[in-house]
Amino acid sequence: MPKEKELDYDGIVIHFGELWLKGRNRHEFIELLVRNIKRALGAADSEKLEKLRDRLVINAHSEEEVRRCLESLKHVFGISWYAPFRISSNDINDMIRVSKYFFHDGESVRIEPHRAYKEVSFTSSDIVSSFIKLVDELGFIPDKKSEKTLHIEVLKDFSIMHKERFQGLGGLPVGASGKAIVLLSGGIDSPVAAYYAMKRGLEPVYLHFYAYPSISELKGTKMPKLINVLLPYSEGAKIYYVPVHLFQIAALQENQKYEVVLFKKFIYETAQLVAEKEGSKVIVTGESLGQVSSQTAENLTASSMGIKCLFFRPLIGFDKQEIISASRRLGLYDLSIIPYKDACSLRSRNPVTRIGYAALDAIYERNGMRSLASESLEKATVENSVPETR
Ligand code: ATP
Ligand code: MG
Repeated sequence: MPKEKELDYDGIVIHFGELWLKGRNRHEFIELLVRNIKRALGAADSEKLEKLRDRLVINAHSEEEVRRCLESLKHVFGISWYAPFRISSNDINDMIRVSKYFFHDGESVRIEPHRAYKEVSFTSSDIVSSFIKLVDELGFIPDKKSEKTLHIEVLKDFSIMHKERFQGLGGLPVGASGKAIVLLSGGIDSPVAAYYAMKRGLEPVYLHFYAYPSISELKGTKMPKLINVLLPYSEGAKIYYVPVHLFQIAALQENQKYEVVLFKKFIYETAQLVAEKEGSKVIVTGESLGQVSSQTAENLTASSMGIKCLFFRPLIGFDKQEIISASRRLGLYDLSIIPYKDACSLRSRNPVTRIGYAALDAIYERNGMRSLASESLEKATVENSVPETR
């Protein structure tokens, strides 16, 4: 048994989610997934990707290539699972020969055949019983109770064999649902919301309001680092950094209890202008119902009234603890909790919790806030950011 070849593979097989494959958009989705995987693989490896009927295959062979490609797939939505594999011919003796590369002598292994192509002369149980019969040749021990598994996928012209399946991120390929303007603060919630929006195929355009005196000071904060954790999922994104001082000056004249809802109306209006520029109809926020005073159903309704976009609030069903767990899992949390100058100064101890639309609109009007969104957007710094090399 050629031990030195143990870690070499014939490639990585990628399976995509089944549900959305049935629809009319199947072809389009697969093309998007191919585009996204190629971007994630980068120049060095994108040429290695090819379609193999209902799967994709990366022709990576050496341990180093395989490791690098597996790492890239971790950030791609629309993948159900993936696995490094070796090929055998559609002959059970050859399967046995190839299987020896995967396991050490004495290991117990569950044999899990699957005939994607059924016009072969053997059944799945023929494969299992042949392995059991030839146990002396194998080295490892077929055992249906083992947690280690040898998967054998029988295709038309050959079979692919793998032992380790990695779970993909699921969801839809980014871009499949168009663009969304993602209102991104420096807090815990909105970066998690951005992740779930991307999971449903939305391509993010980030919009951040900052209270620092200059963009260079903003760049010295945690904000670029936080965004950089999200960027690999969409292979880069456009980001609008909008200064908040015009809003702050206007809000100073008003009773403090309205500041939070006024801020919300202001950021929604700006998001709508960005959506028009970007050809998007969707705004994503990190709000979760009832979490803070501005997030009552009444306040959210009043601030969003008149905005001609669809709002998605992916965290609506999440408890704070669940959001924190997701934030930790995604590697965002430690950055999110670093102190940061809030755009909304939260001066009020008694923010209004149930304002009506007409009342909010009148307060907006009397403080001359109608043109705030467009004036602030004119001062935006817009960047196309790519993820820092991993
Ligand atoms: P987060 O943890 O996301 O900051 P939060 O619990 O602080 O949310 P709010 O301050 O009410 O709640 O903000 C609600 C949402 O409004 C945020 O999730 C985000 O989508 C948006 N938002 C708030 N501040 C900003 C900002 N400075 N720039 C862009 N969007 C913002
Ligand atoms: Mg916040």
